[in-house]
Amino acid sequence: MTTTSLHDRIGTNLAAIREQMRAACNRCGRDPGEVTLVAVTKYASEDAVRALYELGHRDFGESRPQQLAARAARYPSEVRWHLIGHLQRNKASLVVPISYRIHSIDSLRLLRRLDEVAGTESQRLSVFLEVNVSGEASKDGYAPSAVMTEWNEIAAVTNLDVIGLMTMAPLTADAETTRSVFQGLRRLRDELAHRGPWPLTDLSMGMSGDFETAIEEGATYIRVGSSLFTGCE
Ligand SMILES: *Cc1c(COP(=O)(O)O)cnc(C)c1O
Repeated sequence: MTTTSLHDRIGTNLAAIREQMRAACNRCGRDPGEVTLVAVTKYASEDAVRALYELGHRDFGESRPQQLAARAARYPSEVRWHLIGHLQRNKASLVVPISYRIHSIDSLRLLRRLDEVAGTESQRLSVFLEVNVSGEASKDGYAPSAVMTEWNEIAAVTNLDVIGLMTMAPLTADAETTRSVFQGLRRLRDELAHRGPWPLTDLSMGMSGDFETAIEEGATYIRVGSSLFTGCE
């Protein structure tokens, strides 16, 4: 694909997604400015990522720490890099200095390690706890009951701000199941926000197939990959 047609294709995809986001916000009376589109670039080519950057997009998500680091190194610091995939504690010092948000914290041990690294770097970092709302065995994430029982320990970190919760709906789920997973995340967020200390303003939920439902259920960050890069292979 030529660079021009790649630009055109991604520009068209981006405009279509933005329009769907606007429509979903309209349906539920939300301000489109409340929802950030994180472009998930894990399967995208370098040229495609570059094209998206040149189109003015600035929020990019990667699921692997090494790829996040490699890509972040090639772009100006104005780009906001979101880590959305599984993180091991031994990669904490790799990702803390370059991540704008980490969406995928799934244990107290990982949270504490990130807190420690952020402290060493004299940095504050805003993060999400990933919750396995659907309870699928194959999924990462805290069990909802574990977040509840560990909340006091979670809330004791000093260099991190937990800004909200993240989840993934089951891939094969019907629309109703998907919606109930998003509602479940929102309810859990409301309950935890009540306990303090953080207001937990954010919900990271919704991917290519279900971001409109996620917006209707309160998503503030949606993570979209395949529909953004479709036709760019
Ligand atoms: C890959 C991925 C996405 C994007 O999924 P698409 O269906 O390609 O939009 C979102 N969130 C996470 C955690 C992912 O790993």
